[in-house]
Amino acid sequence: MAISHKIEEFRKALLEFAKRGTITSKVVIEVPELLYGFGKPIYDSEKCYGCAACTIQCLGGALRLIETQDRRRIYMDYWRCIACEECAIKCPKEAIKVERVFDLSSFLSDEPLLLIDVELKRCMMCGRSISSIKQIDEVHGLIKHLPLPKTHIDRIGLLCEDCRKVVAAKSLLRSRGAKVG
Ligand code: SF4
Ligand code: SF4
Repeated sequence: MAISHKIEEFRKALLEFAKRGTITSKVVIEVPELLYGFGKPIYDSEKCYGCAACTIQCLGGALRLIETQDRRRIYMDYWRCIACEECAIKCPKEAIKVERVFDLSSFLSDEPLLLIDVELKRCMMCGRSISSIKQIDEVHGLIKHLPLPKTHIDRIGLLCEDCRKVVAAKSLLRSRGAKVG
């Protein structure tokens, strides 16, 4: 049986006990260092710029990325977290710390926790999501002193990667006399 199924069964059993009043959900215990499997990622929303790398790396399937037209949100199903720390390792902003605790009330909750909520930028040509505005601002700040044509810099944050290539290819063709739409 897969570990996630075992955890799900364990969670269901605890829920039953909680319903009967046999246990209280106000339990937070420190997990011994060598006991792998339980932990709680703590996000620093000031440091996080919403790149979503942590959601891609999440080995337990605990982190979920949900995008609306103009927001990017990261949710966590606490009970799925296996405390592998991949999210913290891969975060480019050092915005996550995995605490070694077992929080019974979060473990029993069916409500995903909202960890991050940032404004999203979409490509002005195709409408695909590009990244969070916070991340785009950071990139602009990093490259503004580089000797790049202003048009190149301006396109970052306006167009997605694919549309940037199309625009660049068309302008190259035009500069060589080709007629392109
Ligand atoms: S916590 Fe780190 S990896 Fe996750 S979205 Fe924020 S900056 Fe990106
Ligand atoms: S510690 Fe592992 S399982 Fe938990 S949220 Fe981070 S990547 Fe996912």
